[in-house]
Amino acid sequence: MKTKRKEDADIIVVGGGASGLMAAGRAAQCGARVLLLEKTSAIGKKILVSGKTRCNLTNSNDLNNFIDMYGPNGLFLHSVFHRFFRFELLTFFERYNLKTKTEQGGRIFPVTDDARDIVRVFQKYLLNFGVRIMLRSPVEFVERKDRSIFRVKTAEREYASQCVILATGGSSWPETGSSGDGFKLAAKMGHSIVKLRPALVPLIVYEQKLAASMQGVSLRNVRATAFAGKAEDIDTKLISDISYGRGQKKKPKAPLIESRFGEMIFTHFGLGGPIILLMSLGVVDALQKGPVSVLIDLKPAVTKQQLGRRLQKDFDTHGKKKIISVMKDYLPSKMIEPVIDLTGIDREKLAHQITAYERQKIVETLKALRFNIKESLPLKNAIITAGGVALDEIDPRTMASKIVPGLFFCGEVMDIDADTGGYNLQAAFSTGYVAGESAAEQVMLPHEKMP
Ligand SMILES: Cc1cc2nc3c(=O)[nH]c(=O)nc-3n(C[C@H](O)[C@H](O)[C@H](O)COP(=O)(O)OP(=O)(O)OC[C@H]3O[C@@H](n4cnc5c(N)ncnc54)[C@H](O)[C@@H]3O)c2cc1C
Repeated sequence: MKTKRKEDADIIVVGGGASGLMAAGRAAQCGARVLLLEKTSAIGKKILVSGKTRCNLTNSNDLNNFIDMYGPNGLFLHSVFHRFFRFELLTFFERYNLKTKTEQGGRIFPVTDDARDIVRVFQKYLLNFGVRIMLRSPVEFVERKDRSIFRVKTAEREYASQCVILATGGSSWPETGSSGDGFKLAAKMGHSIVKLRPALVPLIVYEQKLAASMQGVSLRNVRATAFAGKAEDIDTKLISDISYGRGQKKKPKAPLIESRFGEMIFTHFGLGGPIILLMSLGVVDALQKGPVSVLIDLKPAVTKQQLGRRLQKDFDTHGKKKIISVMKDYLPSKMIEPVIDLTGIDREKLAHQITAYERQKIVETLKALRFNIKESLPLKNAIITAGGVALDEIDPRTMASKIVPGLFFCGEVMDIDADTGGYNLQAAFSTGYVAGESAAEQVMLPHEKMP
């Protein structure tokens, strides 16, 4: 027999993104009456844009390396991942006939390459277990009214529940609904918010003319290294051929901040592309303390000496050609003039006229294209929001607030962020699952609980 249940729901989930959908479904699966309040006109809007609309939902990396991808805050996820990790996530999707495939870097996607299939699974999951969904219901206020009831107010009406799960996401890509409401709601209830910063975000440089002159050039197999200090003051001996950053074994020594090898792109304002996004949070944080520069080694496979010898040979062979013509073997065409201009060499010079000093200047520039970083693009343009509800105020086993009984958190609203590769969504799904299950555990009567 069910006892007094006067509330609109046992559990109200605020936010219908990856974490809120999983939380709502799991709580309902455990037998709780669940109401999901979603601000926008549809659930899962950010899932739909994730992985360039293909949704990179998790990664095949092993648990320890996986946790490294969240930086020091990854430790918080140990017990959550112990309860619900990749295997459980993929099994969950398989139950709804969604098959996955693993690509380069261990990235796991639906075989259909279609993020809509992920949202469809959640639509079925929530329908199967009777979750009530209210769209266009932005929550404006949450308070714990008396000792056991929450009052949740939207623009239209007020709801009551025994538990609330805050799954409102971060402050990035507000067009998907996540505009930082959850931080205000949590702060009002007494939670501390760790400073919000953009992560996985392009960087704006002071040398904008130079960047703009190479706009759209995409480079592969280059090394970008971020340093504390002005670009012109960095000794190139400090550029190593080892990568530093999350998931890398070695810790960098100052002034080196982070170093990555791979792909990047020049934009009209500065630097973007995979390796730049990966190092962006380190750069954003370092900018709080002083100037930061990024040096790009365009030829990481060779030493300066090897590069110098190769140039000398080519200048000897093609002595009557213009220097800008010989450089076609070294650089994408859009980069040749800007790079030669940086060396101060006259573009019209013939290869045989290049002095040893000038050749060395070319070597230095190819091995270290220097940029001073002004700032990153703003939070709204970042793939992920770093910072959020402080983790020491959340029980890592249950996702329950240590401050407000009956309040739970999941997903990006918490101070959790990771590198690209499917880590952010796995954290959202896992914390959502645990929050849903823990909240259900709290509201269910013993005889109603799922085994
Ligand atoms: C372009 C892009 C690509 C990405 N690609 C990947 C990827 O491939 N792999 C990966 O792992 N991660 C990726 N991420 C990150 C990942 O999508 C997010 O970390 C994850 O979706 C966060 O889930 P969430 O449930 O915490 O928040 P969100 O998905 O942001 O959901 C929050 C929900 O809460 C709702 N909401 C907010 N405020 C209120 C309110 N006041 N009342 C009611 N509802 C509210 C919002 O409308 C939204 O629906 C990507 C992010 C972006 C922006």
